[in-house]
Amino acid sequence: MKTSTHHHQHGNKFTSFFCSLFGHHYVVSKKVTQHIKEYKCIHCQKEVTTDVSGKLSVLTPQMQEINSTLEDMYQKRKSRVVHQVA
Ligand SMILES: [Zn+2]
Repeated sequence: MKTSTHHHQHGNKFTSFFCSLFGHHYVVSKKVTQHIKEYKCIHCQKEVTTDVSGKLSVLTPQMQEINSTLEDMYQKRKSRVVHQVA
């Protein structure tokens, strides 16, 4: 009779183990604005994004939504140059 239900998983575990040893290898997956970008780890596919304080944080669905809003605003602002004379 087996009482242990602990399973040892292989596969993705190795790449995340690699990342825990050497750190994630992030590449830019999406440019949101000039300062905010989304990154993806080439080893474990972990996604992070630049948050409002300029640090990297986990790309949650909520963050993704904020980013798409920011991107939308950024694109609109970029395409429509407003000349303001003070
Ligand atoms: Zn990683």
